[in-house]
Amino acid sequence: RFDVLVVGGGPSGATASVYAARKGIRTGIVAERFGGQVLDTMAIENFTSVSYTEGPKFAAELENQVRQYDVDIMNSQRGASLTRDEETGVISVGLASGAELQSRTVVISTGARWRSMDVPGEAEYRNKGVTYCPHCDGPLFKGKRVAVIGGGNSGVEAAIDLAGIVSHVTLIEFDAELRADQVLQRKLRSLPNVDVLVSAMTTEVVGDGGKVTGLNYTSRTTDESHSLGLDGVFVQIGLLPNTEWLEGTLELSPRGEIVVDEAGRTSLPGVFAAGDCTTVPFKQIVVAAGSGATAALSAFDHLIRTDVP
Ligand code: FAD
Repeated sequence: RFDVLVVGGGPSGATASVYAARKGIRTGIVAERFGGQVLDTMAIENFTSVSYTEGPKFAAELENQVRQYDVDIMNSQRGASLTRDEETGVISVGLASGAELQSRTVVISTGARWRSMDVPGEAEYRNKGVTYCPHCDGPLFKGKRVAVIGGGNSGVEAAIDLAGIVSHVTLIEFDAELRADQVLQRKLRSLPNVDVLVSAMTTEVVGDGGKVTGLNYTSRTTDESHSLGLDGVFVQIGLLPNTEWLEGTLELSPRGEIVVDEAGRTSLPGVFAAGDCTTVPFKQIVVAAGSGATAALSAFDHLIRTDVP
């Protein structure tokens, strides 16, 4: 039986397992794909103390560091269920393979995935102009023309943010109006280098084989097709937390994020959560890593206050 079982092997889970192991307690980590989203990332330039690295290298270093400790790594395994015994407080995590693991505390760090448009060219030009993260990739488009897809809060925030870096932003919304907060919409419309297109359906990301050169969209009011010349496309149509397997077990927000307090506690005693799968604001590596440390230290705090069952 583990003292701390971490589910998820991205920056938050890896950090949680290092923090737990350093307390000399029995620590395990279950990861479907060790490294998480950083495996799909090219350049990382905003993790302080590492001026520049690349996703796969960062992921390998996460795993190397975890391997320096006495952590039981269960790679290519997916958590499928979680239950807590009311009497003993012991938590069981069922794996998709059919196995079951038991632990006194659990840190969930299963991350999230960006919703994609699923149009031709999007996958082909991913990281070649198509991106999902304005905080990460905005500076790469300094002085260039970009589009932001999505008129919710994240899309409008991205457009405002990017307008200060790039030469021009076109915000494209599928519906007849933007869904972002009015204050953000007012700010957006006050910017001289932003155009807003509503009722516009993106149909294709186009490129020259190496990088994005534009996109095509159809007006949903006139049915006419149009092309825009661009260097970048920021897709901001939702971040989906990997928490489907926890529905009905833990309190989730309307977006499916695990509701956590400032110490990473969830609605179930002994179960903590960290990173992109939670309500922690801002989905970034440094934030995920920090919240992983918080969750592990909270788990340790819980252990020293609880009798061994
Ligand atoms: P994740 O990295 O999503 O890791 C989740 C882990 O859980 C993975 O190991 C996954 O396999 C595993 N998992 C999922 N479900 C289960 C399950 N049921 N059972 C077991 N394991 C499971 N942030 C930056 O700060 N800088 C950047 O430059 C940057 N660039 C990015 C570029 C791209 C293309 C993307 C997609 C994201 C980028 N981000 C960047 C965001 C950053 O990658 C995330 O904020 C960060 O990885 C979140 O860490 P996490 O540990 O919470 O989750």
